[in-house]
Amino acid sequence: MAVMKFGGTSVGTARAMQQAIFLVAREQQKSAPLVVLSACSGITNKLVHIADAAGRSDLDGAMALAGDVRQHHALLVEELIKGELLKKEIMVRIEELATRLELLIKGVEIVGELTERSRDMFCSFGELFSTTVFAAAMQEQGHDTRWVDIRTVMITDDNFGFARPLNEVCEERVSQIIKPLLDAGTTVVTQGYIGATKDGRTTTLGRGGSDFSAALLGAWLNDTSIQIWTDVDGVMTCDPRLVPEARSIRVMTFSEAAELAYLGAKVLHPDTIAPAVQKNIPVYVLNSWHPDAKGTIITNDPERLSGMSYGGLVKSIAVKKGQCIINVHSNRMFGRHGFMNELFGVFARYSISVEMISTSEVSVSLTVDEKSFSEELIRDLKSFGEVDIEHNVATVSVVGDNLRMARGVAGRIFSSLKDVNLRMISQGASEINVGFVVEESDVVTAVNNLHREFFSNPEGEGIFEIPAGSR
Ligand code: ADP
Ligand code: ASP
Ligand code: MG
Repeated sequence: MAVMKFGGTSVGTARAMQQAIFLVAREQQKSAPLVVLSACSGITNKLVHIADAAGRSDLDGAMALAGDVRQHHALLVEELIKGELLKKEIMVRIEELATRLELLIKGVEIVGELTERSRDMFCSFGELFSTTVFAAAMQEQGHDTRWVDIRTVMITDDNFGFARPLNEVCEERVSQIIKPLLDAGTTVVTQGYIGATKDGRTTTLGRGGSDFSAALLGAWLNDTSIQIWTDVDGVMTCDPRLVPEARSIRVMTFSEAAELAYLGAKVLHPDTIAPAVQKNIPVYVLNSWHPDAKGTIITNDPERLSGMSYGGLVKSIAVKKGQCIINVHSNRMFGRHGFMNELFGVFARYSISVEMISTSEVSVSLTVDEKSFSEELIRDLKSFGEVDIEHNVATVSVVGDNLRMARGVAGRIFSSLKDVNLRMISQGASEINVGFVVEESDVVTAVNNLHREFFSNPEGEGIFEIPAGSR
């Protein structure tokens, strides 16, 4: 059986939902799948804005945005559901959800404070709306389908905004609630991204978390494959929005995919791979608009990997924008032990994750997400020495299992970047990536130069697909 996850653009409009329904129905002919949906594209962002507006008591602003959310889904129902009776019934459910959203806005506005707990409550509405419409349309079109509230299955800790599942309970719930339906031939439609604590408080797994939900559910179901349906032909040699010539990668290892995701390739949530590795379940990344394109298989299966072996060094190039460099310069570092420990203790205290590091005897340069930057952090770092900050930078990482044993890669990387101002360089400890930092304004030049250097020759034939647009 398959877990089919559809991202925001794959369910964002009536036409997209209809295409996804076609794909689910096709899968159902083999065996009933578990369908995990994101919110319609743009809706989670709107919900975040609604939460913020409610938190600063901007009732009018929040209500206006909530009106947009209601309208978007009412329109979907209007376009997608044909029968008048069912249309009325689903419209009532959409109204109920919209009314609950408005009640939440009013509650937060009255209290005058937005907690992480209520923020998760706001963010959960997107997936509840999208799955409600989708399941109804499936049923109307004659497909045996059941809508399941994943909050009865995805039981998590109470780390709101970044909740993690309680594996044993979840696995048990999957076998009690989801498995029997699938075994009986009923397709299950449920929400990605959201969950609930043991005592029923709504949580979320973090932005982009529907991929993670699908992988977890796939692992708990066992004997399955995980299909991530999105708006590109699988994992590509670079983000096609930055490099129009980017090609699809036919096969990659779990470690390459995990590395790429952590280094910024948005196509997969970074945590997606771990549950799949644990149970050795293949992950397919596929395009809902080109369902017959091969997409990408992520696997450690030696047979599949060897069938696709290639001499290329670099598999893909990942970019993470919105970063800043923090340079700490101190003569006290020289020959002194414990300095690094104390320095990184500051980041730990503020729960800030450090992305890239490079050191000399008297200075440390590191990158952090711009969002985690604060004046308090800088104040504390100044007790170690001089601190200077470079904003608006991006990390660019070149990833590939073959980099491990390759010679001359660094030379090729840096000669292709001779026109770009490199702010920092780092070779990943995993040895399968080389990373550096450039100003955001240089990203497009940097990645296109690199892409030309590593992908414009035929060495990767067989492992890469021609972009669908140019077929
Ligand atoms: P979904 O809503 O389906 O989860 P996302 O927007 O989260 O989709 O991820 C898909 C997007 O990821 C693509 O549209 C593409 O712009 C971006 N992306 C970034 N890096 C890559 C890459 N290496 N391969 C494919 N897509 C990438
Ligand atoms: N809807 C959520 C988000 O936009 C989760 C997801 O799409 O994966 O972050
Ligand atoms: Mg995504």
